[in-house]
Amino acid sequence: MKKILQDLSFEQLKTVVLELGAKPFRAKQLAEGLAKGKKISQTNVDASLKQELLKEYEDEPVKVEKIFRSVDGTEKYLFRLADGNIIEGVFMQYKYGNTQCVSTQVGCRMGCKFCASTLGGLVRNLTSGEILSQVTVINAMHQRGSVRGVTNIVLMGSGEPLDNFKEVTGFLKNVTAAEGLNISARNISLSTCGIAPKIYELADLGIPVNLTISLHQTTDEGRRRTMPIANKYTIAEILKACDYYFQKTGRRYIFEYSLIDGENADAAHAAELIALLKGRPCHVNLIRLNEVKERTLKAASSAMAYKFAAALNGGGISATVRRSMGGDIGGACGQLRAGYLKAED
Ligand code: SAH
Repeated sequence: MKKILQDLSFEQLKTVVLELGAKPFRAKQLAEGLAKGKKISQTNVDASLKQELLKEYEDEPVKVEKIFRSVDGTEKYLFRLADGNIIEGVFMQYKYGNTQCVSTQVGCRMGCKFCASTLGGLVRNLTSGEILSQVTVINAMHQRGSVRGVTNIVLMGSGEPLDNFKEVTGFLKNVTAAEGLNISARNISLSTCGIAPKIYELADLGIPVNLTISLHQTTDEGRRRTMPIANKYTIAEILKACDYYFQKTGRRYIFEYSLIDGENADAAHAAELIALLKGRPCHVNLIRLNEVKERTLKAASSAMAYKFAAALNGGGISATVRRSMGGDIGGACGQLRAGYLKAED
């Protein structure tokens, strides 16, 4: 595989352009083109610079392979990487803006029992430019005049962002940069299964993204049943890291809690969750489990989800049930890629 130009910061891009003997303004031209989701060959730089760049760099590191469109405006994507790997993404349209969900790894090694992304293990980390290109490509498809196509980004596709810390933080730097897409950190959410030490590092980075923790259980024992990472870090360690994150960034943090019938969704669990989170600057996002056919876990009903939310609210915890989107196009949480890979066999 050739190198990926989108991995570079603007400063690094400038150095490359100057080393190839081109004028400094070409770097700006190139950066503008790439931010618009163009291939190197489609940017406005002169032919000789393009030719030199293409000797070393991929023209199109992330290609849209397939689009699935829902009646509610949600779109699910399969992207093909330069080495042939497939990743997936989702684009959701809301009244207040459009959110794109990006992948950070091909596959995942965290092994959560309810998740499809981890079924085949980790294939490889994505580079920062491969994460960024998912956004620039989809942003370009939805841009309307000066109105951005993508306003919000969630790192909730396949992969564990904090298990690919260097590339993910490189992506955060470049996507928030003025010469790049210039998306505010406030509009970016990073979701983690709870790699506590990396949460401290993220807090110290100076890019105050919204921190989302996949909690899903109220006790360490319960968590160990469904999330292997719980053998490494306890809920107490994660909460301590969240406190540090809040201290450093002033941003309230969010817990994801996927409701699984017979596992974590009854009144006793709601009471435990209230006791655990009381007084914390947090919000709880409740989602009904998306059933994965390779797994046996069952989703809680919609009625159970609303009852659970009401119990949390009654106990002084801010909580909402996340609306499921794109139900008609299926393939939630890593299932699109899994299904596609199977069909390709
Ligand atoms: N690795 C990161 C981000 C990826 S997944 C993390 O663990 O947070 C984004 C969210 O979807 C996580 O909260 C994850 O636990 C959840 N998730 C995964 N599979 C799911 C499923 N089948 N149903 C509901 N939520 C799921």
